[in-house]
Amino acid sequence: MARYVFITGGVVSSLGKGLASAALGALLQARGFSVRLRKLDPYLNVDPGTMSPFEHGEVFVTDDGAETDLDLGHYERFTGVSARKTDSVSSGRIYSNVLEKERRGAYLGKTIQVIPHVTNEIKDWISIGDEEVDFMLCEIGGTVGDIEGLPFFEAIRQFAQERPRGQCIFMHLTLLPYLAASGELKTKPTQHSVKELRSIGLQPDVLVCRSEQPIPDKERAKIALFCNVRPDSVIPAYDLKSIYEAPLAYHRAGLDQAVLDAFGISPAPKPDMSRWEDVMDRLTNTDGEVRVAIVGKYVQLEDAYKSIAEALTHGGMANRVKVKAEWIDAEIFEHEDPGPHLENFHAILVPGGFGERGTEGKISAARYAREKGIPYLGICLGMQMAVIEAARDLAGINDAGSEEFDHEAGRKRFTPVVYHLKEWVQGNHRVERKLDDDKGGTMRLGAYTAVLKEGSKVAEVYGETTIEERHRHRYEVDIRYRDQLEACGLVFSGMSPDGRLPEIVEHKNHPWFIGVQFHPELKSKPFAPHPLFAGFVKAAKDQSRLV
Ligand code: GLN
Repeated sequence: MARYVFITGGVVSSLGKGLASAALGALLQARGFSVRLRKLDPYLNVDPGTMSPFEHGEVFVTDDGAETDLDLGHYERFTGVSARKTDSVSSGRIYSNVLEKERRGAYLGKTIQVIPHVTNEIKDWISIGDEEVDFMLCEIGGTVGDIEGLPFFEAIRQFAQERPRGQCIFMHLTLLPYLAASGELKTKPTQHSVKELRSIGLQPDVLVCRSEQPIPDKERAKIALFCNVRPDSVIPAYDLKSIYEAPLAYHRAGLDQAVLDAFGISPAPKPDMSRWEDVMDRLTNTDGEVRVAIVGKYVQLEDAYKSIAEALTHGGMANRVKVKAEWIDAEIFEHEDPGPHLENFHAILVPGGFGERGTEGKISAARYAREKGIPYLGICLGMQMAVIEAARDLAGINDAGSEEFDHEAGRKRFTPVVYHLKEWVQGNHRVERKLDDDKGGTMRLGAYTAVLKEGSKVAEVYGETTIEERHRHRYEVDIRYRDQLEACGLVFSGMSPDGRLPEIVEHKNHPWFIGVQFHPELKSKPFAPHPLFAGFVKAAKDQSRLV
């Protein structure tokens, strides 16, 4: 049976609870334990798949095809443990399960209530796969006191009570604001937050205090006293230059020791921090900088492309260069020449996206990269746009486009070089979808195998010819245009195992131009940069040495 750490937050949101959880996972691994991280989100959406990236940031997709919160991306990047469907749950999912059971008559006519039915559903979810790991880390989204969060807080209280003593601990993150006028750090909001937590029956064992200023011992002792926590379990968390410093910084601050102490694990196994020391070494000891333009739609909110930004950083670490990524709104290129905007970049990345807005701009960016020999990485929609560009400009299909845009506009304007996929094979199953199905989870989602062409650029980049990558899309490049496009130099260098779905395209007569139908960024780790990002940044580095 696993030991449980429940992670909650107070005072304000965006304190870095996800990062603290992920770093703790990495630290427990460094001590030789196995871990799994889970996110419990109080919002009522059934999953984040249908939420706008402007509002919620990126949708992170797991191997088993769940559309989850971006915190699961942090968990994977820090621990290397592939998240599963069961590692992310929202109130919406919990209630929908409860209501579905009620309709089936599973509650035998009982009155359905938050306690015990909703809380039982949450507890069942928390303990899935309990026997597989040493530690289960469960982060509760939102802050203590939120109305939606109450069933989750109540459920973890019951859960800890029902388990043997010492099997569950609570870690709480708060903020110590600094008042410049009086030159003081204020502990009162933390005291109130813990008071709120205790009023619902939860006593924190470890307090992580975010602060911009050093926390004096005197203040630490005061927090410990008023919050009923041991002084060495009050862990300071200061701002960091890079998120990848978090495991080393939290280790120095004593977080893993405090957690192991709270479980009474003594003597604690010695930590091996070499993985994170190496990560920091690669991040800090760099030679030069490359500039990458990301031409996309959701450019106002960096979190919308979180994993891409991180994967580029990892690509930089693989090549010991700094990567400076700049977001450019694709719509600009619909009425302006991309040249002046893009000439100072060493590489161009067109990320995934939905809907027609900005796509003509992305096509222009792909054309610019192809014509100027600038390294190009097209991801999902970015691959589809590169194919449309080649179809129009090289193969002479002047009205080439995607069915996605015709569906959106409600009229037919394009030759569908990219079409809506209604039926495909996953493993040994046939999957069927209709355009008007519910929006949630109707895409080709999760890990699929691709077979790479021997001797192609991608086969060289990956160093193998069978790969598995994560997908999230409804539309697909039409294989019927393959011969025509290959005759123009756009090679279909990666295909689904049944040979029906193009997974990767590349321009033969170009130093580095690759489009992929999947999302490689989701699998990149700081200690294992994804080969496509390592290769892309290397190409950008070569480019930077040329100009
Ligand atoms: N909108 C495109 C599709 O559904 C691409 C999706 C994406 O880039 N993730 O196929």
